[in-house]
Amino acid sequence: MVMTSTNDILAALSARYPHQPTFLQAVAEVCTTLAPYLGASGATEADYVRLLRLATPERIITFKVLWTNDQGAIEHNIGYRLQFNSALGSYKGGLRFDVTVNEDILKFLGFEQIFKNALTGLPLGGGKGGSDFNPKGRSDSEIRSFCRAFMVELHHHIGIEVDVPAGDMGVGGREIGYMMGMYKELTHRSEGAMTGKDPLIGGSFGRTAATGHGAVYFARAMLRESGKTLAGLRCVVSGSGNVAEHTARKLVSEGAVVLTLSDRTGYLYKEAGLTTGDIDAIIAHKDTDANLDTIAISGATFTVGKPWQAVVADGYFPCATQNEIDVADAKAIAKHAVLVVEGANMPLSNEAVAVLHDAHIPHAPGKASNAGGVAVSGLEMAQNAAHYPWSADEVEAKLISIMENIHERCRIEGGTDWGIDYVGGANIAGAKRVLAAMKVLGW
Ligand code: NDP
Repeated sequence: MVMTSTNDILAALSARYPHQPTFLQAVAEVCTTLAPYLGASGATEADYVRLLRLATPERIITFKVLWTNDQGAIEHNIGYRLQFNSALGSYKGGLRFDVTVNEDILKFLGFEQIFKNALTGLPLGGGKGGSDFNPKGRSDSEIRSFCRAFMVELHHHIGIEVDVPAGDMGVGGREIGYMMGMYKELTHRSEGAMTGKDPLIGGSFGRTAATGHGAVYFARAMLRESGKTLAGLRCVVSGSGNVAEHTARKLVSEGAVVLTLSDRTGYLYKEAGLTTGDIDAIIAHKDTDANLDTIAISGATFTVGKPWQAVVADGYFPCATQNEIDVADAKAIAKHAVLVVEGANMPLSNEAVAVLHDAHIPHAPGKASNAGGVAVSGLEMAQNAAHYPWSADEVEAKLISIMENIHERCRIEGGTDWGIDYVGGANIAGAKRVLAAMKVLGW
């Protein structure tokens, strides 16, 4: 097949993976923004073929996970590790435990991860993994049982110079700890084969909060472009998991007003802004596996369902999941938004991205603005390799510097006469680095 445009790449992938719409959506977004750049830089057929290869995972490992529940019965789930691209370094990317996990979702996440990791400037390849295991309502012993069973297969495929998984949706410090415990038992090795560990077992300070903090540092850099600050900015945050929590906390500490947090049941809205105490109470409530529909926060109201997207605000920080904002939401948001900063991966449909682009709303894609998590994971790998931990302040200073550098890369590649096209800038800057490395490797 002749490969002389990004449309040819999309056609080839659509023919090969017709049942993977989320993956195709992620590739289409990248191809749309790369097309003018590739055309203007005189890309050859070999360059387009290389981009097609970049969109083809190096390895997909699928396995059965047999584990024992509290009733003594054996259950089974499907486990995955997707080693997408190793041009820049060991595969790196989180594990997601959620009922929605399948090959399509992991390929979209792995593909995004390649560009995100490239943007950090660290030597990190791209990968992703997880399971369709649903951790909701499971006891601690069932979570431990599942994590250990998952590692029985995963340990064959990971290691500090090979593939270093971290957490994602449904996988936090507790799950990483249980998996690392099993990894040590199976391999007799204490290497940092995973990141997001508790500092007691070799984790980096600041990793838990890094994605949310990084998103806020990125927002700060975006606002600086127009002489604004976060102080007083009225912000909508979606989700109430790891990324949402630390985005909200950091926004509050920067003087912004956090109007909302959400979950699968609906959203909490507080006109005066959620306080740190409110966020403490919400997270403690969520930690008991309860939902936002059963918590009372003074001055806040709860609304069932999706309409947090209709809340009028200055800043939007979607931090829950993919495709939270559709084209109608984006049209409403574009009427008043000062900026949109993605904490989640691909929370906007491609049509919604186009609406914000056409309205010239500064909009940071997750691969740039949520890269703080993987960046501190990269720093955790450096600390593990050196067998020497850095202080929390050292890590935070490095995180700020990495987020500022990512912003600068987006500015350089995405500068336009109306402002910075962050989506285009991030895709071009990330793709350039990975494609150049693939060329050096003879790929
Ligand atoms: P968590 O599991 O900690 O939290 C996810 C949150 O999103 C929960 O509040 C959950 O609600 C909500 N949510 C999930 N699915 C839906 C849905 N279909 N509709 C409405 N709400 C939903 O995950 P994280 O905070 O770790 O991850 C959130 C996003 O950030 C993901 O896109 C992830 O890939 C991305 N990300 C995470 C990083 C990290 O370091 N953890 C790094 C970079 C990106 P409920 O409580 O009801 O389940």
